[in-house]
Amino acid sequence: MNNLLLENKIASFDYNIADKIFTASENLSTILQLDENDVLNFETIKLLVENNNKGQLKKALIESFNKDFFYLSINFFTKKKLLKYFEVGGRILYDTDKKPTVLTGLIKDVTKQHNLEIALQDNEERYRILADFMPQFVWMSDKEGNLHYFNKAVFDYTGFTYEQLMEGAGWLKIIHPDDKEENIRKWMNAIETGNLFLFEHRFKHKNGDYRWQLSRAVPQKNEKGEIITWIGTSTDIDDIKKEDLQKNNFIKIASHELKTPVSTIKGYTQILAKGYENSEDITLITSLNVINNQVDKLNTLIGDLLDLTKIELGSLPLTKEVFTIQELIKDCLKDLSSVYPTKIFIEEVQSKEILIEADKNRIYQVLANLITNAIKYSLTDNRVTISAKEQNNNLVLSIQDFGIGIEKSEQENIFKQFYRVPGLSEKTFPGFGIGLYIVADIVARHGGKINLESEINEGSTFFIILPLNNSSKNES
Ligand code: ADP
Repeated sequence: MNNLLLENKIASFDYNIADKIFTASENLSTILQLDENDVLNFETIKLLVENNNKGQLKKALIESFNKDFFYLSINFFTKKKLLKYFEVGGRILYDTDKKPTVLTGLIKDVTKQHNLEIALQDNEERYRILADFMPQFVWMSDKEGNLHYFNKAVFDYTGFTYEQLMEGAGWLKIIHPDDKEENIRKWMNAIETGNLFLFEHRFKHKNGDYRWQLSRAVPQKNEKGEIITWIGTSTDIDDIKKEDLQKNNFIKIASHELKTPVSTIKGYTQILAKGYENSEDITLITSLNVINNQVDKLNTLIGDLLDLTKIELGSLPLTKEVFTIQELIKDCLKDLSSVYPTKIFIEEVQSKEILIEADKNRIYQVLANLITNAIKYSLTDNRVTISAKEQNNNLVLSIQDFGIGIEKSEQENIFKQFYRVPGLSEKTFPGFGIGLYIVADIVARHGGKINLESEINEGSTFFIILPLNNSSKNES
């Protein structure tokens, strides 16, 4: 209170009704911006009140009267014609005839709070107008995840009123039945962890159709870092999603159709190779070799395209078994040496056997893909170093080349679907940009991760880190 008095925010006063005597603490002169030679007495106050429409003030005062106290909130022009906001309150003292005699109370200058409140209301109003203007859905929830605000687009799209969206199953009513369970799981996970919510799901339109939406929500925190609300948006991605489905369907059908003729060519090439094993016709042998290698490449490509559609549909299964990584590397390098006889593979594998439980064919695919890239993106240097070691209960595989390298800014992009580093290399080296996307998916499905170190014109090293989960074996 003392501080407030000193800051000239609160003044005390007494008003004797019968004698019309007004007394107040000195700081009221400052609060009301009186002139230096004004005396703080009834006359001065009366003049000021008259300038402020006495009738209205009197009415407000009478209306604020209770038996024992009064309270009113008024705006008031100071002597210097500055509009200020006050809260005035206090007690009413009565004489023996129960007539009010004295008002005694406090005047509090609340101009600052008032202006702040108005500014906040203004801001909120502006955001609401902005949100209602947007075609995207905007929504908000409390820290427990209960939605309590939707912009106009949500009502327009769903045909529901605010009350309808709040009652019963709430907004979950508009989520496609197939997306509901995962939606709840992801939303609760975001609420529990405070991590970004990101989800693709279908919302029911008022005409009964469903459209795909991409929803994102971020938590809003107070100054203590505690979550107070979540703000979310949902954007219509239905057209892109349908185009994607069409593309995937095309790739799926095309690769299936290609598979049979390519397998047949491969079969006949093998029959011919076997039949002419001892032939001295060099042209025939070389041609059969070329056909065989090219068919293998085509087969890998078709396999990659099929894997791509499986990843998209979430149906790339893993068949895990226990095997030694050294053996798998040996097999892979043997196969690749026959395709790339002039390349030099340097093996730096740990001598102690590393046993891993994983999908052998898929890990082979990861290795083959990274080594093939290492060969493909090295123009002059023939070396590729393959290393394998056990580290902190992980298997660390690395594939190093001394080729063209990858720009820092591109190092994340290369794991995206169909991404190829633009520029000369894109035109010089054949490829579709799906190999690393599949590699990244397989590694992620095994609970592992990929790191990359690369310098332009010096080469690249891809590190594959896979959990071994064999701590019990190590302990024994
Ligand atoms: P593709 O090789 O068929 O284009 P990938 O998905 O295997 O597709 O690779 C994506 C892109 O990453 C390649 O187009 C290439 O630009 C770059 N890249 C991959 N591996 C290497 C490497 N070892 N050295 C340099 N660039 C590479």
